[in-house]
Amino acid sequence: MTLDFIANPPQNFTWQNSNNLRYINQESQNCVSPKFASEVDLALQSMGETSKKIIDAKGLHIQLCQKLSDIVPEYKAETPRGWPEGSTWDNACAVSRDGVVIFAENAIPFGDKHSVFNSGIARHEFGHEFDKRYGEDARFADVDDYVKNYLADIKNFPNNFEKYKQMIDYNNNKPVQRQLDYIIQGSTSKKSSCGGRYESFAEMFAKLNGGSQGKVQMHPNFDKFTDITFPKVTECVQDLLKKFLAGKL
Ligand SMILES: [Zn+2]
Repeated sequence: MTLDFIANPPQNFTWQNSNNLRYINQESQNCVSPKFASEVDLALQSMGETSKKIIDAKGLHIQLCQKLSDIVPEYKAETPRGWPEGSTWDNACAVSRDGVVIFAENAIPFGDKHSVFNSGIARHEFGHEFDKRYGEDARFADVDDYVKNYLADIKNFPNNFEKYKQMIDYNNNKPVQRQLDYIIQGSTSKKSSCGGRYESFAEMFAKLNGGSQGKVQMHPNFDKFTDITFPKVTECVQDLLKKFLAGKL
């Protein structure tokens, strides 16, 4: 059984029977359907010990809701970084902020983009939290080592992209195109964008912990494709994870 696609998640799920109960904000436990709660539970399980160690290291909380603005009212009028103009956080089903990861059951579709929760998204958000673990206001993705590796991957990207784009059906798959834009966000071999660095970090983390958002949602080969096109940042995140799990970070 794969944890990504559960045909029939238990309808009678309750947090009280879950090992993840202590991570879920109490007031939010009843804000969503048992089906959604069970999907979140399975997504947390899919990361094994890594998610628990990150939660414990950061004192992280998970909140559940119908729309993200139920928890953060100002999100109603705010466009997420790298999202199309006119969209708001209520079009997204997940966010990580200030030590809280929020998952929404019913994000509002925006044009042809419909953000629906899946385990890849959960792992992606945990990637952002891991990235932010470096210090109060610092991220691993802003440190010289990551930036250097990211720029090197971006430099080789055009060549690799031409060679391997068919494996993700790039020309015919708009969500794949958007996801690639999302982890690049205007970066060039000379200058990286914050969005590109942060989103690539989160996607590489998700890939290394069970599968990225791109793999679960956009194309089954997405992670194989980023193994080839983003090899240096993949290794960089992997090294950080190894150190973190060994208690050396
Ligand atoms: Zn992200």
